[in-house]
Amino acid sequence: MKKHEDKLLIAGGGLVGLAAAILYADRFSKVELFEKRQDPLAVQGNEARSLQLVISARGWNTLRLLGFEDEIRSLCLSLKGRWHHHKKEEKVFEAYSPIGECISCISRESIYRLLTAKARAIANIQLQFENKFHQVDFARKELFFSRGSNTEIKSSHYDFLIGADGVRSSIAAQLNQGGEDFHKEINVYREISISGVNWERDAFHYWHTKTAMIGAFPVFDGGFSLFLVHKEADFETLLQDPTAALFSGLFPEIFSSIPEAMQLFAKAKGGILGSKSCQNWHHGNNAVVVGDAAHAVLPFMGQGLNTGLEDLFFLNQYLENGKVREGMNLVDFENQRRPQAEAIRQISQDQFRYLTGKYGQEEYARRIIIASKLKLSGQLPTYSACAFSLEPFSTILEREERIKLSINKNEEDDLVGQLPQH
Ligand SMILES: Cc1cc2nc3c(=O)[nH]c(=O)nc-3n(C[C@H](O)[C@H](O)[C@H](O)COP(=O)(O)OP(=O)(O)OC[C@H]3O[C@@H](n4cnc5c(N)ncnc54)[C@H](O)[C@@H]3O)c2cc1C
Repeated sequence: MKKHEDKLLIAGGGLVGLAAAILYADRFSKVELFEKRQDPLAVQGNEARSLQLVISARGWNTLRLLGFEDEIRSLCLSLKGRWHHHKKEEKVFEAYSPIGECISCISRESIYRLLTAKARAIANIQLQFENKFHQVDFARKELFFSRGSNTEIKSSHYDFLIGADGVRSSIAAQLNQGGEDFHKEINVYREISISGVNWERDAFHYWHTKTAMIGAFPVFDGGFSLFLVHKEADFETLLQDPTAALFSGLFPEIFSSIPEAMQLFAKAKGGILGSKSCQNWHHGNNAVVVGDAAHAVLPFMGQGLNTGLEDLFFLNQYLENGKVREGMNLVDFENQRRPQAEAIRQISQDQFRYLTGKYGQEEYARRIIIASKLKLSGQLPTYSACAFSLEPFSTILEREERIKLSINKNEEDDLVGQLPQH
C-alpha cells in the first residue's frame, strides 16, 4: 500500500525534538530534524546543560510510547527522596512519596545519545546535525537554514512543523513577534562531578542557606553530580576568595569532605536560571511549538523536560496521516497545554524559593500546614502529585491555593513560634 507523502519537519534536536521524531515517524512519510549542534554519537559531552535529569510519571507516560522504555530505565537510578543536610552535619530525610515511590535519575548525555541512536535507526527519519535554521515562512511552509560554516541559505518544505528549539526558540519568537515573557533569576548555577563521598546513592542531597545552595545527584556510572546555585554577583567572594571563608562557612560539610569543590565550582560550566512563557504556540493547523520553546520553568521540581514530553503525549492525539485529525484544531492543544505550563512554572518558582532558603518563617509554616491538610484529606503532597501522578498541574496548584486561603492566621502564627529559625 502506498504511504501518504507528507513531511514532518522538526526544528531543534534536543530531547523533546528527538522524542517527537521517534513518536510521530509512523504518521509521516518523511521526518527531517534540524539541529545546530554536532551529532552526539560522533562527539562526547555535546550537551552543556545539567548533567543529570529527573524523569517522573509524565515523562515515562510519553517515553513508554517510544517503544524502548526498558532500555531507558536500565540507564536510570531510582531515588526515593531528598536528604536535607544541615550545617551541623545533621540531616533529615524527606521522602518523595508517602507510599515509597521513586523518581528516576539519568545522565542527560546517556538519554540524548540513546534517543539519537534510536531515531537514526528509523528509516524515514533524517537527522540533520550542524544545520542551523534562521526563519520560517509559515504561509509557504518553508524553513530556511544553513549548513555548518557555509553561509548559503537553503530551504526545506514541510507539511507539519514542530518547533522544539528550546528556551531561546526562534520559531516561538516568530509566532509571538518577540512578545514572549522571559523571567531571568539573579541566581546562576554551576555543575561539577565528584567521587569519593559515601552519601546514600538512592536519594538527592541538598545543603541550603539564604546565600547559596548545593544539590547532589548520584550518577549511574559512579560518584555524584553537584550543582551550586548562587547569585552571580557573589562569584568572587564565594568562589575566588583564597581564605574560602564564605564557602566553608556556608557549606562546612562539603568543604571538609571535598576540599577541591570550591575550585572546581569556580571553573565549572553552568548557566542562568529562568523561566519563559508565550501566548501563541501554533500557526494554523500545521505548525506548533513544544517543550522549552513554548514554556521553560526553573528546574527545582525536575519537571521541565517532563512537561515537554507531556506536550508530545497530548499532541500525539491530534496527529494522523501527516496532518491534524479531521475536526481537531491546534488551538485546542494550545488551550489545553498552556495552563499546565503556567501552573508548573508557578509551582517550580515556589519550590526554588523553598530550596534556596528564600522562604520567610510564615511561608515555612504555611507549607507545613498545607502538607498536613493535604495528608489529612488523603491527597498527595504537591511534589508527589507532580512527580507520581498525571493529575493536571493546574488542579494541583488550585488545590494548594485553596488550602492556603483557608489557613487560619492564628494557626499560622502558633506554628511560626514553634519553628526553628531558618
Ligand atoms: C540545571 C537544569 C536542570 C534540569 N533538570 C531537569 C530535570 O531534572 N527534569 C526535567 O524534567 N527537566 C529538567 N530541566 C529542564 C530540561 O533540561 C528542559 O526542559 C529540556 O531539556 C527541554 O528540552 P527541549 O528539547 O524542549 O529543549 P532543548 O534541550 O533546549 O533543545 C533545543 C534544541 O534546539 C536546538 N536549536 C535551537 N535553536 C536552533 C537553531 N536556530 N537551529 C538549529 N538548532 C537549534 C538546540 O541546539 C537544542 O539542541 C533542567 C534544566 C536545567 C537548566
